[in-house]
Amino acid sequence: MSDESRRLATSSPGAAGAQGSAPVRPYTRAVTKRASTPLRSLLGQLALPLAGLLPLGPLGTAVPDPLIADTEFVRHPRARRYVLRLTRDGRPRVTVPRGGSLREAEAFLRRQAEWVARQRDRWRAAQAANQRSWALGGDIWFRGVRTPLRGRGEPGAVVDLGGRAVRVGPDGEVGAAVKRHLRALAARELPARTRELAAREQVPLSRVTVRDQRSRWGSCSPGGRISLNWRLVQMPPEVADYVIVHELMHVLVPNHSRRFWALVLRACPGAHGARRWIRRHGTELL
Ligand SMILES: [Zn+2]
Repeated sequence: MSDESRRLATSSPGAAGAQGSAPVRPYTRAVTKRASTPLRSLLGQLALPLAGLLPLGPLGTAVPDPLIADTEFVRHPRARRYVLRLTRDGRPRVTVPRGGSLREAEAFLRRQAEWVARQRDRWRAAQAANQRSWALGGDIWFRGVRTPLRGRGEPGAVVDLGGRAVRVGPDGEVGAAVKRHLRALAARELPARTRELAAREQVPLSRVTVRDQRSRWGSCSPGGRISLNWRLVQMPPEVADYVIVHELMHVLVPNHSRRFWALVLRACPGAHGARRWIRRHGTELL
């Protein structure tokens, strides 16, 4: 994966598993809390069936806490702490570590209610801004430049994307038409660029696919298969190259060790700047 945001998602990155297993989560942040002692967690486990219910309401029915009802709780045997994050669809998710309990996870979540509210406000604002930018009169990132979308938003109309003509589909959706256009462009350009860089760096490569991933820029699976997010064509070319080099080097080194970063930096001296760009603007592409 080509993003370091997962470092924020847990205080112990080493426990997050093999490379590629943790998706990039640009909109999220995490708050962590140490898992309980074994005895406390055992009590928590026993109390599990009651968890999720608040004290009884006036009529004797349990009142569900909306925050808890809206939250996804996920057990993770390798997690060492409770981790709270907002998922891409704006819902809280709490990771429950080994030895942790649902009751503790809920108490942890309630203490972070303000953090969740703040993050959700930010998420909503970002969603709204994103919708405006993919509509006519808005502007989107294209090859690292904010590029306006001009034209008429009706079926068959032609939208001007920085000098490129994009035809609007029968649905009249400008944003969808531009995304289709960029995805087709990415499918033509990215595999070719990846093969070029693989040849230059002498990395064996079996297959490159371009996909519509919502949570990562790229990934590398065993056997040298690389998949890339079509949104790489929205990044400055040197940043897209960094993502490609990052995944290529995973063919050689399947982790984020020193050796891995040394290879990345040798092949892509601008890697630090590229990472900064992604940290700063990555969410604006999604
Ligand atoms: Zn990686």
